[in-house]
Amino acid sequence: MTIRTRFAPSPTGSLHVGNVRTALFNWLFTRHAGGVFILRIEDTDRERSTLEHEQGIVSELSWLGLDWQEGTGGGAFGPYRQSERHEQGVYRRELGRLLDQGDAYYCFCTPEQLEADRHACLQAGKPPQYVGRCRDIPPEQVKKRQAAGEISASRFKVPPGKVLFQDLIRGPIEVDSSQIGDPVLFRSDGWPTYNFAVVVDDIQMKITHVIRGEDHISNTPRQILLYRALGSEPPRFAHLPLVLGMDHAPLSKRHGDTSLRQYREHGYLPEAIFNYLALLGWSSPSGNEVFSQEELVKDFDLSRVGRSAGVFDPAKLDWIANQHVRKADPSRLADLAVPFLQHRGDLPDPVSEDQRAWVAELMQLLKESVSRLQQVPESDAAQILLRFDPGMCLTDPEIQADLEEPSCRAVIRTFAHLLAQDRPIDLETYRRIAQEAGKATGTKGRSLYHPIRVALTARGSGPELNRLVPLIESAAALQLPRPVPGCARRATSVAKLLGVEA
Ligand code: GLU
Repeated sequence: MTIRTRFAPSPTGSLHVGNVRTALFNWLFTRHAGGVFILRIEDTDRERSTLEHEQGIVSELSWLGLDWQEGTGGGAFGPYRQSERHEQGVYRRELGRLLDQGDAYYCFCTPEQLEADRHACLQAGKPPQYVGRCRDIPPEQVKKRQAAGEISASRFKVPPGKVLFQDLIRGPIEVDSSQIGDPVLFRSDGWPTYNFAVVVDDIQMKITHVIRGEDHISNTPRQILLYRALGSEPPRFAHLPLVLGMDHAPLSKRHGDTSLRQYREHGYLPEAIFNYLALLGWSSPSGNEVFSQEELVKDFDLSRVGRSAGVFDPAKLDWIANQHVRKADPSRLADLAVPFLQHRGDLPDPVSEDQRAWVAELMQLLKESVSRLQQVPESDAAQILLRFDPGMCLTDPEIQADLEEPSCRAVIRTFAHLLAQDRPIDLETYRRIAQEAGKATGTKGRSLYHPIRVALTARGSGPELNRLVPLIESAAALQLPRPVPGCARRATSVAKLLGVEA
């Protein structure tokens, strides 16, 4: 049997992290089994569904690397957009069958009546459920009322008995159908409801496994009854635990970013999000936490999806994201970082090849510390390299005490003087000059390199000088919107501000 699964988003907004996790688990499960993954667009909510949201969803899933074999682009069981299926009469035909079989009926209850029923149920301490007022209206009466222009919906006649299913994650679940009110199949506006359309589509698209969020578990018994009424065996169900925020409340906007688009916009690598979301509810038998897509496909198994909720931990996401940045190719990182640097005014648009190559060098330095590319312009390294401000040496609290030391000022003076005599300043020249400055001032170690750092960066801390110096010099050779001074000019301007010019 070929495994067939689907992800069935409603295009009413951008993809929420919880939904993306559902898509991801479907995809991993299907890939692992060599099956077919389907993207179906559930756009029966006409007021809130838009093509723009649909396109956004398609773009986000593609960005994440979740591809599908059947979807709005084509496939043997199309169309895959519910509004188109509705136009083709797919749902109406199936409703006709249920009506003919006596498994569905027209319901003329008004919204006011239904609201009053609901109220009465609640008052009696019972869960609100349809009272069955229209269940047994004789056919001639139905015809008469319809002919008179009375508006009707259609409901499923839930049969008596127990519904039992084996959830692949939650185990056996049993519900008595007396707990299930007759669900609406078609609303009075002529559109099918979610519960009906989803069953018709899953049957027609030959879905073998329905993997979705736990919030749908209460829909499953009525859907199973609908499968049976339509003459089909239900698929296997797997209900994924919820995704919670750090405070264990359902993940929502107040926890920060909850849409995939936001993570993409912040410059997270797709493979990092992919990896992190896979760990929201699933764990590897190896205990590893950093995976490539291929490794996840190989290891993924629904039996290792826990029943307890996955907690979305932004610090852990950042740790995993950094692991992926470390592995990524610096020129790819450069391409992704350029827009952020352009946005900050550090790079022109378009960038030259030399500028792009320089950013790749910068990324070699930064990849140990960043989790997302949005962090690049604000990193210490980018600020030191691209926005050097000699005045900081007068304000950085970290260095004020050191600057009182005569030997510190002597190193800055000598180092600046020696740098100004030499050029170009490559790494070797810099090292030689630093040593000469040490000899001339009788300093070494921190007493030598700390003042040199101040001379080159006007700050008390930052990346290793041996790595910074070549980047300073290569940045100075680029045509940037804010020209970058080279090492000699930096040291001279710091020396001047401190009044220790040679
Ligand atoms: N359109 C539904 C949703 O987004 C699909 C649920 C299902 O997978 O059955 O929640």
